Amino acid sequence: MSNVYFVPWRQDSDMVGKFKKAIRKSNILEDINKEDRVAIKLHVGEYKNPAHVNPLYLKELVSALLEKGSEPFLTDTTSYYCGHRFTAVGMLKNAFYHGFSLANIGAPFIVADGLGNDEGFSVKVRSPLNEVFIPNIFKEVDKMIVFSHCKGHALTAFGGSIKNVAMGCVTKKSKLAMHKFVNFCYDEDLCDGCDACKNVCDREIPIIKNGKRILSLEKREDCMHCPGCMEACKRGAIKLKELEKLGQVLPIAVEGLFKVVGKENITSINWGANIVEYCDCMPFPGKTIRENTGIYLSKDIVAVDKAFLDDAKKNTFMIDGRPDPEIQAIEGEKIGIGKMEYEKVLI
Ligand code: SF4
Ligand code: SF4
Repeated sequence: MSNVYFVPWRQDSDMVGKFKKAIRKSNILEDINKEDRVAIKLHVGEYKNPAHVNPLYLKELVSALLEKGSEPFLTDTTSYYCGHRFTAVGMLKNAFYHGFSLANIGAPFIVADGLGNDEGFSVKVRSPLNEVFIPNIFKEVDKMIVFSHCKGHALTAFGGSIKNVAMGCVTKKSKLAMHKFVNFCYDEDLCDGCDACKNVCDREIPIIKNGKRILSLEKREDCMHCPGCMEACKRGAIKLKELEKLGQVLPIAVEGLFKVVGKENITSINWGANIVEYCDCMPFPGKTIRENTGIYLSKDIVAVDKAFLDDAKKNTFMIDGRPDPEIQAIEGEKIGIGKMEYEKVLI
């Protein structure tokens, strides 16, 4: 059984101070040594989406790491689809805009996949993913702290630590490979030909013909399996099919990173605050779906996600036909990246 240290959320108290205390009391940084290169993996968030981790908490974490004489840096990978985070230049601007700068936090932000086109190196993993491409930077990391904003997600229902590593510590090639496990179905009877799906797709795949959506025959192979068109369709004509497949492959990608950095060298922190409908990758957060629960710290990536979901209640995330958010943790336990059973240690 793994320990999950927990700081309950109190709106009328100093949560940043309590987090600082939790880092000390949990002894979660005990294995960090002088001169260790410590990667703090966060999701930098899409431009102008305010629902990302609050830099004040990262500042406290960095300060504790600097006190130990280690060399912390913040990191994230570029997106596989076009947008503000597609290149390192765009991502660095985003990081600065959202407060993840050396001046603000005390540690530099380094884009993990070079200028955005580093294909990384191949790590063999189990079927059905078979291999993941990990950015070279992770070969040089001694320790890693996965700092995750807990929120909803259009494809996996929930994004916490497993998702942060699985989709955020691989290169574009693996991000696309994992998204290919997502499939959509289309109900022509619900379609009114409004063309919202066409306007949102930068690959020009949806076409409107005779008042209905069809997919371009020449371009459909270029589909990124992103949820752009599904999210844009307000009539519910585009829906997820085989809902759980993506959640099932995410832990396999985590296993790939564990092979490189070492499971024992990774600590996970779930920031259960600002719990919104959509992922930080979207240009807007959507509705708040749950009040803040608290902050969770653990050496076990499965337990930390499970502990948050137990508090936030998994039904919170099963909106709009989204899959069971616990799938990631269940599959994670099956392949040995962590345990569902945990002991919650109140701080
Ligand atoms: S999922 Fe939809 S929006 Fe995304 S690339 Fe494919 S057709 Fe375009
Ligand atoms: S957004 Fe929906 S309703 Fe509008 S054209 Fe596309 S599929 Fe049809």
